[in-house]
Amino acid sequence: MRLASLPRIRLAHLPTPLEEAPFLSAALGGPRIFIKRDDCTGLALGGNKTRKLEYLIADAQSKGASVVITCGSDRSNHCRQTAAAARVAGMKCVLVLNSTTAEPAIQGNLLLDRMLGAQIRFVGSEAERDPMMEQVASEYREQGGEPYIIANGGSDPIGTAGYVAAIFELMEQLDDLGLEPSHLYTTSSLSGGTHAGLAIGAAIAGATFHVQGIAIEGSEDEVRAVVLPLANATAHYLESDAVLTPHDIRIDANYVGPGYAMNSDASLDAMNTVARTQAILLDPVYTAKTMAGLIGHIKAGQLGPADIVVFLHSGGSPALFSEGAALLAALEARGI
Ligand SMILES: *Cc1c(COP(=O)(O)O)cnc(C)c1O
Repeated sequence: MRLASLPRIRLAHLPTPLEEAPFLSAALGGPRIFIKRDDCTGLALGGNKTRKLEYLIADAQSKGASVVITCGSDRSNHCRQTAAAARVAGMKCVLVLNSTTAEPAIQGNLLLDRMLGAQIRFVGSEAERDPMMEQVASEYREQGGEPYIIANGGSDPIGTAGYVAAIFELMEQLDDLGLEPSHLYTTSSLSGGTHAGLAIGAAIAGATFHVQGIAIEGSEDEVRAVVLPLANATAHYLESDAVLTPHDIRIDANYVGPGYAMNSDASLDAMNTVARTQAILLDPVYTAKTMAGLIGHIKAGQLGPADIVVFLHSGGSPALFSEGAALLAALEARGI
């Protein structure tokens, strides 16, 4: 396995803390819960994309790139962290953002993209992103620049290697604490790099815990159709013999709620509970639904007080400030 010899630049504050959440466990009558704080990776408000970018930006540098181009929605955490990573590496950054309005409000991640000086090209739909990235790349090539395109979410084998490395980091922390958890809970998405990296990383490292994905969009089959091939492509890229089968990719898609980035009662309850027990702030798009899944599994008796689980907090806090008043009203309407 050639993880240690891959080009990598330091962008994140590592290792991220692994913190026990005793008041949360008590409130749920559940297992011991440890939260892996990847919301604290440090780069321009942090989040999971920074681990991927340590490998992606290093790869861009090794290819002589002068400009990094990536895409996402106008609320993308990935785009904000890419804009920041490009700055640290002394490169330009162009973000291709799809937006439903011609002039989206300057708030949340979009505010931070602008502060970081990223150039922004808006497109009207997700389908227009890849052609626009190609167009921007050829514009730079014509001017003698060297563009490097990063896929949506940084979820290719190079970026996914960041979450293989995260498994080794986590296992060292668990070892130091003498902990043997049964499950690692993570968000599972239609970009899928985090779940894929954790799942193949766990196989490579011989972890004894199960990686349990909670889907925040899509169906179980749709998400698995992204995560499984990406996990195996990452093993291939790392020159590891590990191979996962469909059965190894655990996904529960019962917590998507009304849809991507739309609150559910369970996600609002999860945000309230974690904020009021541990003062840890979940984000509405990803980690609130993932925590709703963990809480749901505890309520269903799948995890009991004798168990130990790890929950990956993958970041996303800028979304809290995108529509603050509406979010607060929704949280308060659920009471606690
Ligand atoms: C992007 C993102 C995810 C999903 O990660 P993928 O690797 O794209 O599946 C989860 N949580 C947060 C906060 C994110 O920004």
